[in-house]
Amino acid sequence: MLIDTYGRTVDYLRISITDRCDLRCTYCMPKGFTEFEKPDHWLSFDNIERVVTQFAALGTKRFRLTGGEPLLRKNIVELVARLKRIDGVEDLSLSTNATQLVHYAHDLRQAGLDRLNISLDALTQKNIQKIVGTDVQAKIMSGLRAAKEAGFKQIKINMVPLAGINDHEIDAMVEFCMENGFILRLIELMPMGATAQRHQYINLQPIIARLSDQYDLHPTEDSYGGGPARYWQNQQKTFLMGYITPMSQHFCQTCNRVRLAVDGTLYMCLGQDHQYALAPLLKNHASDQELQMAIQHAIQLKPLKHEFQEKPKKMIRIMSMTGG
Ligand code: SAM
Ligand code: SF4
Repeated sequence: MLIDTYGRTVDYLRISITDRCDLRCTYCMPKGFTEFEKPDHWLSFDNIERVVTQFAALGTKRFRLTGGEPLLRKNIVELVARLKRIDGVEDLSLSTNATQLVHYAHDLRQAGLDRLNISLDALTQKNIQKIVGTDVQAKIMSGLRAAKEAGFKQIKINMVPLAGINDHEIDAMVEFCMENGFILRLIELMPMGATAQRHQYINLQPIIARLSDQYDLHPTEDSYGGGPARYWQNQQKTFLMGYITPMSQHFCQTCNRVRLAVDGTLYMCLGQDHQYALAPLLKNHASDQELQMAIQHAIQLKPLKHEFQEKPKKMIRIMSMTGG
């Protein structure tokens, strides 16, 4: 078991398999951004497999592939199949913007991917383009259909409400998710990097109250995916809605995750710089025991909490550098 200095069990690893992306979401990757990690520094599939094996040996059960846009990494299906074969990997999921999903959904499912989270901040073509910088509505919608057809259950749609940009689409998104059997999650924007800091986050608390009333949603104690979202559901239990509120009601005291960046750096918190470089050990063919000791040491560096409210300009790393 991995337990940090504050007594929190860490049993969830997010793995960024690329820091590149085909989109430029207005709050994430800046237009013209070029500070990508050189391919020579990317963790190979062999090394990702090694790190996951050691985390699993230390009690981590849940793993998520993310980025950047993970579907841009070549041979992603092979990676999923390899990770799913590792003893102790109980739940393997992936976060995607869905632009390439139509080509991969079926094969990812066949390779053993358990769950999918899809980012979709708007439904209208105009607003999608405004947020991501290009017209990809049709591609995303085909990706969503392909995910359902491939047999993924409990697909989560992640929406980051932005004041004056897509907040008027929240109700339409609720109805879209109800009709399609998706779980909708609203996420408060965190001030990561200059792009996110340009926007004012929307406090979800009044929205939670309004939507609960409007759609007769009730809080449920169940957690879906072991993450920080708090869930509400309708009377018929046919629709689930989650809220992730790092700003208005942070959940650092129950944080159970760390993140592996594409260059092999383990980041302990989205909002702090505490990190540990695993790449040198991997390069020097460290033994399994040495890797496990390094991971255990790294977990002890996990900070108590982020300081997004107290120091909103502190975090210069954008989300895609750490792995969202
Ligand atoms: N490209 C994939 C995607 O968009 O799903 C995976 C990586 S992306 C960084 C993962 C998630 O992080 C997305 O749902 C995105 O909306 C969210 N995200 C990015 N920057 C954020 C920020 N500053 N605050 C909150 N969520 C953010
Ligand atoms: Fe790309 Fe995801 Fe960041 Fe949007 S949120 S720019 S899709 S990594």
